[in-house]
Amino acid sequence: MSDVLFSNVTIIDGSGAAPFPGQVLVRGNRIEAVARTGEETSALEAGMGRARVIDGGGATLMPGLVEAHAHVSFCDTPNLEGLGDMPPEEHTLQTMKFARKMLDQGFTALFSAATAKERLDIVIRNAIEAGDIPGPRMRAASLELTVTGGLGDVRRSHMYRETFAQCCDGPDEFRKAARTACREGVDTLKINPSGDEFVPFARADMTVMNDEEVAAVAEVARSRGKKLAAHSRSAESVKMCVRHGVDVIYHATLADEEAMDMVESVKDRVFVAPAMGIMYATSRGEGAAWGITEDAPVALYFRKELESCIECMKSLTKRGVRVLPGGDYGFAWNPIGNNARDLEHFVNLLGYTPLEAIRAATALGGELFGADIGLIKAGYLADLLLVDGDPSKDVTILRDQDRLTAIMKDGSFHKAPEGPGEAGRVAAQ
Ligand SMILES: [Zn+2]
Repeated sequence: MSDVLFSNVTIIDGSGAAPFPGQVLVRGNRIEAVARTGEETSALEAGMGRARVIDGGGATLMPGLVEAHAHVSFCDTPNLEGLGDMPPEEHTLQTMKFARKMLDQGFTALFSAATAKERLDIVIRNAIEAGDIPGPRMRAASLELTVTGGLGDVRRSHMYRETFAQCCDGPDEFRKAARTACREGVDTLKINPSGDEFVPFARADMTVMNDEEVAAVAEVARSRGKKLAAHSRSAESVKMCVRHGVDVIYHATLADEEAMDMVESVKDRVFVAPAMGIMYATSRGEGAAWGITEDAPVALYFRKELESCIECMKSLTKRGVRVLPGGDYGFAWNPIGNNARDLEHFVNLLGYTPLEAIRAATALGGELFGADIGLIKAGYLADLLLVDGDPSKDVTILRDQDRLTAIMKDGSFHKAPEGPGEAGRVAAQ
């Protein structure tokens, strides 16, 4: 792995600071030095002689994106039942394809919000780490641990059907499922304390797990050093998450004042990710080709819940809670690869500036991931995007794969800069 010097780039460092012209030196898999133009440091100058120089021609260099609510094994399914119907062999190959797609779209790290088969996330994470297949860094999750009749239970009494979740009832069953997931090697345990509007017998405003069940999984997560993530739309389920030390509260879309006060009281350790992408696409009728038209009950419902979500997220942001993009991409009408659309939702719906949205998807994502990623800073891992254009003015650029002219993960190019003029612009010294 040769050293790489990005010169003549405009740096968005991920911290929310204004972009500045400068140079970034990568040595091995880490960022060795960052310097503003005209303020080159001795560390940078020392490394220049041995580095491969990439002249960015004024393009933007920014940290790789972090997806806070990834479902690479959901494989753009048109319905939840389809996930259980897919045989493991096909499912593994498909998941591998979607993991690569995420990296192609500039996501250099994924925090999974549940796997669709017990070991899928784990196997894909391990293969990526071993260098066997291309893909982002990954935090592998368990199945959705849910209750009988909760989100993820697609079984019916009169027929045999595999589901994509694991149905548990009572603290003992939840504890056993959580311990098994830890044995198999997950990084994150996922629970479904609230329902969802797609589930006719456990709606979004219903809290279907009880305190003993959440406490049982929380104890397993704590004792084994795992993260705990929860699908929590209802206000009561958000409170339950705070009571039991859940690390990542997904949705929190129906949080009331008391729930938001409680989240604020633990803002130094908790993350909230509303997953606006799926609500937005569903409410806009983008699922029409799959039977979810704009006037379908679930679409009408999500229009309302999205309004509530916007109010809650604006309030939580104002209170200093870390709110992250990551929108449940992995369904047919909210497909994997579109994940950067969530940054647009943060700008258009929550009133974030583009730089604030980028910070949420990079620096804050890195804090959730728990590694030195998400910032362009000396000592940090070299996960970098070279972008043709200025995402600090227009985040929609980030959804266009062609505008990502280089993608570096862990100091290696997944996509190397190329094109006419390469010989002049990329010179080995
Ligand atoms: Zn999800």
